[in-house]
Amino acid sequence: MNILSKTVIITGVAGFLGSYLARNLLKDEKVLVIGLDNFSTGKRENIEDLLNYPKFQFVQFDITQPDILNILGFANIHEIYHLASPASPKFYQAIPFETIEVNSKGTYNMLELAKRTGAKILYTSTSEAYGDPEIHPQSEIYRGNVNTWGPRACYDESKRMGEVLCYLYHSLYRTPVKVARIFNTYSAGLRNDDGRVISNFVTQALTGADITVYGDGTQTRSFCYVTDTIRALMLMMEKDKANGEIINIGNSLEYKIIDIAHLVKQFTNSHSTISFQPLPQDDPKQRRPDIQKAKNLLGWEPKVNLEEGLQLTINVYRKKLSI
Ligand code: NAD
Ligand code: UDP
Repeated sequence: MNILSKTVIITGVAGFLGSYLARNLLKDEKVLVIGLDNFSTGKRENIEDLLNYPKFQFVQFDITQPDILNILGFANIHEIYHLASPASPKFYQAIPFETIEVNSKGTYNMLELAKRTGAKILYTSTSEAYGDPEIHPQSEIYRGNVNTWGPRACYDESKRMGEVLCYLYHSLYRTPVKVARIFNTYSAGLRNDDGRVISNFVTQALTGADITVYGDGTQTRSFCYVTDTIRALMLMMEKDKANGEIINIGNSLEYKIIDIAHLVKQFTNSHSTISFQPLPQDDPKQRRPDIQKAKNLLGWEPKVNLEEGLQLTINVYRKKLSI
């Protein structure tokens, strides 16, 4: 019989990052993972394999409901990874009120759960907290340039509100809170219809559809492969030095979106046409993390470059699409 070393809660376990994180944590047979999700953007198929693990329990639940505190408030919980929230602009703009609720009420509920149980808690914030940044690259001390009056505001501003709640629980109650500002992360774990750029381009290139570049494609992003992001989140949870800290997690290699389109086309040997579509409102023009703080506090830096990550992503998507 295995003695449990710790019990870990993951909110948003049926999503892209949550399911990957659960798989990693369950490699240690002494860890019990309780996954929560309401399937708003996540899929049951993401956790199908996890349901076979004896140390994985799944609870279909909307974490904005206060009942969660009655259900888990007296449990012996050691760590909470709070990932629940739509992350793709396509999805969060389709359910803006739910997005605001999960990042405000949902985050409050998880912080309260951490306070009552004495658990450590990691909140996944976002590079969107910087909005359309006027400072480049973005370090954690930059306060951002976010528009409250536009389609991205429901996500950007509610993520910032989540950070405020984390600050309050840390400063008022000394709750061991860690905030990861995650920059664009990708792998074939993204749904084909997720709408984010890597999943769109690879799916389009492999199926022969037009590769849809929004605007002229000169806007930039920095892409982090999922293994690097997940390793960083686990290090943040482990290290006391990360308590009460906001830390950028991302890859500092920056690419123009048009160059990504050409790279994907080349790596897939695709005959797809690159077609230019209108640039969505408030689309950030440039984004690159300053990751010095993650290097200093966690001893972390990304290992997978975009070329390697794209090849891995394309290989798996090819199998998923049976091409
Ligand atoms: P995702 O959409 O794939 O997963 C989010 C999960 O949260 C889904 O399974 C969804 O069903 C669940 N969820 C949403 N509302 C819920 C609720 N009220 N109750 C229970 N479950 C709920 O997104 P992802 O890419 O895995 O992102 C995970 C987290 O990381 C999010 O908080 C996101 O803001 C953050 N993040 C991700 C990225 C990235 O590049 N992937 C970048 C920045 C921040
Ligand atoms: N993008 C694009 N074509 C697509 C999807 C996205 O050109 O099919 C662009 C989008 O306008 C943005 C960048 O790629 O400039 C990253 O978009 P994504 O939705 O992946 O993430 P975010 O904008 O939240 O960084």
